[in-house]
Amino acid sequence: MSGSGSSAPRRGHRHGQTSHAFDFPALPEAVDIFDTTLRDGSQQEGLSLTVDDKLRVAEQLDHLGVTFIEGGWPGANPKDEEFFARAPAELRLSTATLVAFGSTRRAGVRPEDDEVLRHLVKANTEAVCIVAKASEVHVTDALRTSLDEALAMAGESVAFLRDHGLRVFFDAEHFFDGYRVNPEFSLGVLRAAEEAGAETLVLCDTNGGAMPHEVEGIVAGVVADYGCQVGVHFHNDSGCAVANSIAAVRAGATHVQGCINGYGERTGNADLSAAIPNLSLKLNIRTIPADRLERLTPVSHHIAELVNIAPNPQQPYVGAASFAHKAGLHTSAIARRRDAYEHVPPDSVGNGTRFVVSEMAGRSTLAFKVEELGLDLDSEALGRVLETLKTLEHRGYHFEVADGSLELLLRRASGWEPDFFELESFRVIADHADEADGQGHPMTEATVKVRVHGDRVVATAEGNGPVNALDSALRQAIGSSYPVLAGVHLVDYRVRVLDTGRGTGAVTRVLIDTTDGEVVWTTIGVSENIIEASWQALFDSIVYGLVHAGPEGRSEAEER
Ligand SMILES: [Zn+2]
Repeated sequence: MSGSGSSAPRRGHRHGQTSHAFDFPALPEAVDIFDTTLRDGSQQEGLSLTVDDKLRVAEQLDHLGVTFIEGGWPGANPKDEEFFARAPAELRLSTATLVAFGSTRRAGVRPEDDEVLRHLVKANTEAVCIVAKASEVHVTDALRTSLDEALAMAGESVAFLRDHGLRVFFDAEHFFDGYRVNPEFSLGVLRAAEEAGAETLVLCDTNGGAMPHEVEGIVAGVVADYGCQVGVHFHNDSGCAVANSIAAVRAGATHVQGCINGYGERTGNADLSAAIPNLSLKLNIRTIPADRLERLTPVSHHIAELVNIAPNPQQPYVGAASFAHKAGLHTSAIARRRDAYEHVPPDSVGNGTRFVVSEMAGRSTLAFKVEELGLDLDSEALGRVLETLKTLEHRGYHFEVADGSLELLLRRASGWEPDFFELESFRVIADHADEADGQGHPMTEATVKVRVHGDRVVATAEGNGPVNALDSALRQAIGSSYPVLAGVHLVDYRVRVLDTGRGTGAVTRVLIDTTDGEVVWTTIGVSENIIEASWQALFDSIVYGLVHAGPEGRSEAEER
């Protein structure tokens, strides 16, 4: 730590620090959380949002309780312009403040003549965030202008926006890199913005290469020398974005930018799903409202669904595996002392403990799983389930990754049978026609015959593959009996060919991830025939959805 001692004035109070207290400033009481999923996060490869998607993501972020939502760059594309045009009527924010993003004026142009600044004013938000080059080399090489002009661009742009009554956040781009080479210039850019009335000076690690120990020193120096709020914006190229954010807050920053689920280009932005609970639960600093921390996991998964990217099970705090415990060795120890294996109570962030069952697992793991589900299985039944699991895993099933199918298997072992619908038969036809345009047109059609509530229903649907076609046909057949299925849909489908090494040829393992918008479950099918394997996984996926689908689904499931 360098740059400031304990004598520098600080906001806030110290919370439960036990050592090195003389070295660090007091921790702030609260930190503003600034989410940039809709702007920086949407730079991620494969992430593309419609205006409707953006409005729904913003709603979720507001529901979570972040302080600021950066909505996009109205001057840069028509989609973001439409977003800001529709937001006032269609977005009811109760906690968050919407922020429009842009850049400083161009070199040699008056602010009032600058397109980007004009768009920012037109976006009609209470606050804006503008980015300025804060590194000498980027000014001379990329901008090809003088350092004096760069300072003027920063100051005049902030002043112009302030004159229009806007709150201004100032992103100092490449700040940490620039500071290493020419600190005087990088700090000068901040001074120009501060003097012109910026509310927050945001130090950006644009290429994500910074390390926590240097961040601490640099941020502490800025906090000591500037009167306005200091914020940070880290990219994760060194895998340190969250750690850097924490280091910056310990050094006095009170505004943290990042993205829910760490979305962003390359390796992403600081993951707010980890930064928020780290700050709230570990450092005792107010971020989102305390009673909303338990919304973290559902919101993280809901947004993953909206942006159509499968959630990472190993994501800290909110991942499906974050509190999953495998193997029989320490399961009984977990039951006695959960905190020995869980760094925070899982429900504090809306997640839950999960016991993972595999062929490696002993009886005790399975018994915990059964208890977790609230099922009643005696020791004899438990023994039979263990045998069944072993046999199935030998055939290629992998229940460790298929929590949905495992649950159904355990429910069945307790005497339950699903009777939401009864399959009579299904058929899948795949066609490939080469048409006059020389393009191949593969088409898959599925027909499903089922009995539902005593009626025989036959439904046919097309799809771009067997799972898609079967899913559509099944939904057509039973959808009107179970309207809840409209909110349940498949998010991922994975196929793996397994060589069982038993001379019987390869078998196919199909895994399907399904969501109801709140939770994701995985189901499995294994067969020598890919369509049969797909059907098994699909059947479990739908049945699981119905078992957990509120009163109508649940009561039917539990009546027997
Ligand atoms: Zn960025």
